[in-house]
Amino acid sequence: MSTRRRFIEILPFAGLSLLTACGDKAAAPAPAAPPAPPPPAAAPAPAPAPAAPAPAPAQAAAPAPASGGAMVDPADPAAQGLGYVAVATQADASKFKMYAAGQACGNCALFAGKPGDASGPCPLFAGKQVSAAGWCSAYAKKTG
Ligand code: SF4
Repeated sequence: MSTRRRFIEILPFAGLSLLTACGDKAAAPAPAAPPAPPPPAAAPAPAPAPAAPAPAPAQAAAPAPASGGAMVDPADPAAQGLGYVAVATQADASKFKMYAAGQACGNCALFAGKPGDASGPCPLFAGKQVSAAGWCSAYAKKTG
């Protein structure tokens, strides 16, 4: 029984000590918490790739003559130098005395178009087309 008696004797002191201890801790200012480290810099999420632009529609090519290439412009200096006209009958016969009725690009030896073509290439106007009805001073009758 002495143990029980002893327990009862010290119980108030134990309780008081316990309260004091707890009270001190409660009253004591809590140590300042260290500032939280900044969150690690997360790599920014890659932005969603923008939708690929739709391919541009193909540019419509200017209508080209049947055999390809632009028509020779009679106003072009090279064409004027040769007296080229798109219609043979409009040839300047006073200036180009070699002109004779019936001559036309379509029956010229240099005309590279197919028979019956309305226009075709001529080596004198590289990359361009001459009218089969045209004429220039370099006309040479096609043979055969
Ligand atoms: Fe026409 Fe013949 Fe003159 Fe060529 S060389 S432009 S085909 S007439």
